Amino acid sequence: MPLSEFQLIDRFFARQPVGRPDVILPIGDDCALLRLPEGMDLAVTMDTMVEGRHFPAGSSARAIGHKLMAVNLSDLAAMGAEPAWATLSLSLPSADEAWLAEFAAGLFGLAKRHGVQLVGGDTVRGPLVLTLQAHGFTPRGGALRRDAARPGDLVCVTGTLGDAGAGLRIALGQLAAPAETARLLRERLDFPEPRIAEGLALRPFAGAAIDISDGLVADLGHILEKSGVGATVEIEKIPLSEPLRGLLPEAEALRLALAAGDDYELCFTLPPERRDRLEALPFRATVIGTIEAAEGLRLVAAGRPLSLDRRGFDHFAGE
Ligand code: ADP
Ligand code: MG
Repeated sequence: MPLSEFQLIDRFFARQPVGRPDVILPIGDDCALLRLPEGMDLAVTMDTMVEGRHFPAGSSARAIGHKLMAVNLSDLAAMGAEPAWATLSLSLPSADEAWLAEFAAGLFGLAKRHGVQLVGGDTVRGPLVLTLQAHGFTPRGGALRRDAARPGDLVCVTGTLGDAGAGLRIALGQLAAPAETARLLRERLDFPEPRIAEGLALRPFAGAAIDISDGLVADLGHILEKSGVGATVEIEKIPLSEPLRGLLPEAEALRLALAAGDDYELCFTLPPERRDRLEALPFRATVIGTIEAAEGLRLVAAGRPLSLDRRGFDHFAGE
């Protein structure tokens, strides 16, 4: 007997690891009732994943569940928001219990680590389409926005870039790698870590911020556009991981860092007089460039300008 919609929700989504005191009424009524803390703004974001478009057919359900939560929490991180609640819309071709159990394990595993409670959703039969909405708090007027970059600010990134891009090429069979390297890079692709702690730590003193989902060139480009400024980035300063450096020539690794996306690190700006704040951070943050009044993104390598084509790919290393 296939599961009814009610049984499916009850079995896989109503029982969960997080119970927050600000959830007045959880899953099970027509609406959830939520209490926003005094003095906080509500940050809301939503992302949809479609089979065949955002993940290959046959992807691990656990990775899909994790990634659906991760991409939304990454948006909250980029605002400096503290995550709180989520709602989930599921369009499923069938009630595949093994798939649902793995999907829920991926989703709730990450939700639990960030204290996120699923408070509602909708479930329909249809092609595999998964939508999550996430909600978080920022102190009134204190969110990290894309439009806050100013000439003279430093351009910085957390972590390392390009790993997920290499992971995707390995997953697609376009790039060969030793087993341990392949595992590390695939992990960055399939199980991205939203930089929530980083966003919260940066919120009091950073300028603008964005999460890097589409590659540094595209995402920094959004900050520049919204802020009405430009930037110069010194590409040899872009942080690359040891596994990626070991696998690819530097120019190839940088190409992935600039344009491949899926890393979910944060790109942020910082007034130059606050540069020393970076040293006190308990995570890696690297200065890669400077915001300038002249619009557009300029990439330089060893002081030599590089050109960008319209897709954001740069031409260097003799190509
Ligand atoms: P309604 O018909 O009133 O919209 P539903 O029967 O769709 O209610 O859902 C019943 C309850 O289960 C609601 O509280 C709804 O938010 C929740 N719910 C439905 N689908 C999901 C899901 N995929 N994840 C979490 N909660 C869900
Ligand atoms: Mg109803």
